[in-house]
Amino acid sequence: MPTYQKLIPPSVGEKITMGSAGKLVVPDHPVVLFIAGDGVGPELWSASAKVLDAAVAKAYSGRRQIAWFEVFAGEKCNAVYGPGTWLHEDTLEAFREYRVGIKGPLTTPVGVGVRSINVALRQQLDLYVCLRPVRWYPGVPSPVKKPQLIDMVIFRENTEDIYAGIEWDQGTPEVAKVLDFLQREMGVTKIRFPKSSSIGIKPVSEEGSKRLVQAAIRYALQHGRRSLTLVHKGNIMKFTEGGFLKWGYAAAKESFGDATVAWSECGGQAPEGKLLIKDVIADNFLQQILIKPADYDVIATTNLNGDYISDALAAQVGGIGIAPGANINYETGHACFEATHGTAPDIAGQDKVNPGSFLLSGVMLLEHLGWTEAAHMIETAFEKTLALGVVTADLARLMREEGRTEVREVGCAEFGTELTRRL
Ligand code: NAD
Repeated sequence: MPTYQKLIPPSVGEKITMGSAGKLVVPDHPVVLFIAGDGVGPELWSASAKVLDAAVAKAYSGRRQIAWFEVFAGEKCNAVYGPGTWLHEDTLEAFREYRVGIKGPLTTPVGVGVRSINVALRQQLDLYVCLRPVRWYPGVPSPVKKPQLIDMVIFRENTEDIYAGIEWDQGTPEVAKVLDFLQREMGVTKIRFPKSSSIGIKPVSEEGSKRLVQAAIRYALQHGRRSLTLVHKGNIMKFTEGGFLKWGYAAAKESFGDATVAWSECGGQAPEGKLLIKDVIADNFLQQILIKPADYDVIATTNLNGDYISDALAAQVGGIGIAPGANINYETGHACFEATHGTAPDIAGQDKVNPGSFLLSGVMLLEHLGWTEAAHMIETAFEKTLALGVVTADLARLMREEGRTEVREVGCAEFGTELTRRL
């Protein structure tokens, strides 16, 4: 049992563990961590926790209950552990020990050592999958004509690529050393303005690519999805993005040879019961999701591509307030579910924020625990509530702009109550 400086684990509840078959072992009263977050975070947490608890109680007739354990990051971490502490070892230790948690948005400190608390959490716990399901809920205003055609699940690689944070600033002794090595030892002549260049490194590995693609294929097979698309930029970045593509196909063949079929083997017509594996270049994909979104299902992609794609797709189905996300390591079971938007400082403390993104990431958490009945209950209630036009200010404004008259604008807390009523 770890010793914490300031954390007090709940007196009830048991740890989630990893079983020998690579499956999470979830007790009926699991300890689950939460970081309420900054800005609108506490409002999101308060509204969403009530819905999550009510759904679990109802789905399992009181047999199951989450024992929530508060841990700290962001501004509250500064308040608890002292100024300048954005993420404490206590929090990381609690995640290592208890495995699963949910977090609200966190202020990204500007001009201090921690680049981003979110990135630090992902790297420390090796949460290599950034999972973003994207689907449209009837009634939600969308900038595209047929948002109902969008139903994708994005697996974005979370630990590698140009996002690994390996870069050196222009004019520093470090960048001079890297440039010297590149030019003298590697014979690089293509750096256009060496004296004023900053340099970044893009690591993409076979192991990192394969584990991501394997996780995506496993998900696709478990959820009866039709296809998996590898999105890459291998036409230009031959060894990194091209490597991802090559290793992605290899992972499908090596680990799921009987259950998958590559486009090249079947001309795009996968035999019944087989998952089609195909690929598309990232820039083309950004057109395709507007033109032919129904052709795409589960997506596996590198880190930077995934960042752009996730936000573009979220915007197509109604945007920032309702897009959930998770960061997961499927081997260890460690997972952090999160609202994908920021702290929304302009509306913090006003009970205006849409809790959809946070709440739906809670739904993903329940799915991760295998508590699919409770998850499904919330999703259905969410869908019904939106379809009736009971929404927070962000969606109410858009619905009115679309000419809908039967809109009832509610605050964040009341939205939670409305949902709970419909469970
Ligand atoms: P933001 O997402 O906080 O806000 C952008 C706009 O969208 C604002 O007008 C906000 O009111 C609105 N908005 C966001 N979520 C909403 C919701 N659920 N309901 C209704 N409206 C919503 O982005 P920002 O203003 O660029 O960033 C603010 C802070 O959040 C910064 O410190 C940033 O670094 C941080 N941030 C954190 C995360 C995270 O923790 N995952 C992600 C992005 C930004």
